[in-house]
Amino acid sequence: MKAAIIEEGQPHPLLKEVKEPGPPGRGEVLVRVEAAGVCYRDLLNLRGLMPRAKRPVIMGHEFAGVVVEVGEDVEGLATGERVAGLPYSTCGECRYCLEGRVNLCRNRRQLGEERSGSWAEYILVNARDVVKMPRHVDASDASIAGCVLGMLIHALRDRARVRPGEKVLVTGAGGGVGIHAVMVSKLLGCIVIASTSKVSKSEDVRLAGADYVLVGADMLSTKVKEVTGGEGVDVVVECVGEPTFDHSLRSTAWGGRVVVIGNVSVGEARVPLGFIILRENAVVGALGSTINSLREALLLLESGRLKPRVTKIPLEKSSEALEIIERRGNVGKLILVF
Ligand SMILES: [Zn+2]
Repeated sequence: MKAAIIEEGQPHPLLKEVKEPGPPGRGEVLVRVEAAGVCYRDLLNLRGLMPRAKRPVIMGHEFAGVVVEVGEDVEGLATGERVAGLPYSTCGECRYCLEGRVNLCRNRRQLGEERSGSWAEYILVNARDVVKMPRHVDASDASIAGCVLGMLIHALRDRARVRPGEKVLVTGAGGGVGIHAVMVSKLLGCIVIASTSKVSKSEDVRLAGADYVLVGADMLSTKVKEVTGGEGVDVVVECVGEPTFDHSLRSTAWGGRVVVIGNVSVGEARVPLGFIILRENAVVGALGSTINSLREALLLLESGRLKPRVTKIPLEKSSEALEIIERRGNVGKLILVF
């Protein structure tokens, strides 16, 4: 089968012909990949910034496809059914898995880093780590249900405990995650202020549903205060990380929460503790999706209320796709198709 692989010291993924995985073992299914998302994390992996990533490895952790073979002891999934997956494998046995917090599984292995990923014609995964796709949902849309849409539902609702009517600031709103953070926040009934570094993306961000679009990171917190009548926002979805973190914290209202879901610079941020104590601000992280939030993302796609912004690119162009992400040339998500 065709696969995009990272090899030690190579600056780009290499398209290679490799052996198909399988047959599926106990609890596993073999999936023919129909669509695989390209994530900023893939770029960090390529740059060697994911310490647990092995080499060589098939890249990619976002996918949707068709089950083509089912292992022993798999219940509720049959050949021919379409599925979307979590971006990692879980053990199903640790304390976190048993509590349904599978994103924190202690034996979690990231696809495309610690085990073979989705930028290939076939992928072998645990049946418990995929969810059946509703009919009529497009594979490209479903491929980002785990890493992006389910993650945002988890971040906003489970972690930031956002309520309808609250004001939400999304940083990096023009990016693959940010533009969907705008959409999901709107679906949760929030007033959305979106920040993007590029003037060229502001119209796209507005079309995604943002009530206010702020361009440029300079004076961001001042601008947020201006559009919120001096009060600030209840929740910040921090997609950029360290470069915008200080402004994000300064943009929050009393009792506001910053949920950090990305850190493009992989740098450290300074936290003024006065905000945490005297204003009861909270900084929380959110990691990946749970099975529940993945399922909810798929239901939102089925309902037609959530229409992801995706651009399809053939697998052969995975290298170009990563270059586009690196120079922030994309609006929405790039999806590799087969
Ligand atoms: Zn991802």
